[in-house]
Amino acid sequence: MPTRWRDAFDAVVDVLLPPACAACDVVLPGPQGFCDDCAHEVLELPTVHCRRCAEPGSFERGLCSRCVSGVPWERAWAPFEHEGSIAKSIHRFKYEDRSDLSRPLGLLLAALAKKELTSMPGLLVPLPLHEARFRERKFDQAGLLAAVVGQRLGREVKADWLSRTRDTRRQVGLSEAEREANVRGAFVASAAVRGQDVVLVDDVLTSGATAREAVRALTAVGAARVFVLTLARARSELESGD
Ligand SMILES: [Zn+2]
Ligand SMILES: [Zn+2]
Repeated sequence: MPTRWRDAFDAVVDVLLPPACAACDVVLPGPQGFCDDCAHEVLELPTVHCRRCAEPGSFERGLCSRCVSGVPWERAWAPFEHEGSIAKSIHRFKYEDRSDLSRPLGLLLAALAKKELTSMPGLLVPLPLHEARFRERKFDQAGLLAAVVGQRLGREVKADWLSRTRDTRRQVGLSEAEREANVRGAFVASAAVRGQDVVLVDDVLTSGATAREAVRALTAVGAARVFVLTLARARSELESGD
C-alpha cells in the first residue's frame, strides 16, 4: 500500500477502533499503547545488557556466558523486559485470543526498534508457529507483529521464508538442555534466503533456544547475517559476570 493510503487507512482504523490500553483495555486518548497506571509497570531493557543477546546484566567484555560459547546470530535486541504490563499484554495477545493487540504492540515495537533496526539490515521473517498450534490459536503472533512493524517502517516481511516442520512442547518449565532438545530440527528455511540478511521477529526471547534453532535453519540454506528482534527480553538464569 502506498504510504499516503497507509496513513489514511491507519487514521480510519484508529477512529473505528479507539485505542485502548494493551494491558487493561481502558480507552486511551491516543495510540500510546498503555494507560498511565499500566505504563508505570513497563520496564525498558536496561542499557547494560549482553551485546549479542540482550540478556540484562553487566558481563565481562559485554558478553554473557552463553554468548561467549557461541551464538548463531549477529545480535538480538528487544525494547522491553518481559515483566509487568508488557508480559501481561503479551499473555493476553497469545493466550486470551486477543489478536487485536498485535496493532498497539506492533506499533510500540516499530516506534522503539526504529533506531536499532538501522543497524539490523534485512527482510523481516516471523518465527513461525507449527500448523497445529496455528489452527488452535487461529493466528500467528510473530507474523502479526512483523506485519505491523514492516508496514510501519516500510520493510518487507517474508512469512514464507521459514516454517516449522515439527510441533514442539511449550518451553515454559523446561531446563535449558530440554529446551534445546525440544526444538532441535523443528524449522526449515526456503532456498530464497540464500545470500540475504534477515531479521527474525518474535514476541519474547527467553533462553533463546527456539530462536537459535530457527537461525540455524536460516544459515543452513545460506542466509548472510541474521538478527533477532523481539518485543520483550525475559531474563534467563545467568550469573551476572561482575
Ligand atoms: Zn492499563
Ligand atoms: Zn548473551
